[in-house]
Amino acid sequence: MGKKIVYDITPFTHLDYPGKLAAIAWFTGCNMRCMYCYNSDIVFSKEGIHTVEDLLRFMGKRIGLLDGIVLSGGEPTLHDLEPICRQIKEMGFLIKLDTNGLKPEQIKSLVQKDLIDYIALDYKAERAKFGYITGSSQYLRFIETLDFLIARQFDFEVRTTVHADLLNADDINRMMHELKNRGYNKTYYLQTFVETPNNIANIKHPSKDFAKQALRDTLPIVWR
Ligand code: SF4
Repeated sequence: MGKKIVYDITPFTHLDYPGKLAAIAWFTGCNMRCMYCYNSDIVFSKEGIHTVEDLLRFMGKRIGLLDGIVLSGGEPTLHDLEPICRQIKEMGFLIKLDTNGLKPEQIKSLVQKDLIDYIALDYKAERAKFGYITGSSQYLRFIETLDFLIARQFDFEVRTTVHADLLNADDINRMMHELKNRGYNKTYYLQTFVETPNNIANIKHPSKDFAKQALRDTLPIVWR
């Protein structure tokens, strides 16, 4: 019996994989501790509900009903995704990966082997605030992933969660500038912080509004 590394499975979403009907597999554990994270149960869990075999069995029953699967978490790349992706691909599904980008080696390998079709890459903060917001000192590993995906012209999106007390419009403008300078010229997705009883740093709604009007048009922005 394999380890239960899948915290849970969402059987159906039409929102999380652009233009596709998909399931979501939530993988346990994370190598960040983002202050605003509301998936703390998943981040801190050592064991989930399902094994990989359970997940594959579930997907087997969805052939013809779903287009694909979203590998999310937590941080899915903490686990060895290659055998999982291979078997899911053999069933004919598309695979989207949600990642914070701190495991560039695994991401490169999955992309080079055509085992991933789409990536949503979290850009947590510019270097000066990265450690404070995420609890991680691995900013350059995120950059390595970003640069690889840009150079590869891979189908991916960059997204940032915005909490006005953590990131202001100047920060986002500098982050857009950094993206553009590195060659990213697609849509930049911004998502508003969601307050729950489970946010890792127990942070509340921002004390001030985010100054959307101060954002420059360096990149096309879409708010989610
Ligand atoms: S928001 Fe941060 S801590 Fe939470 S799952 Fe994503 S990367 Fe991990």
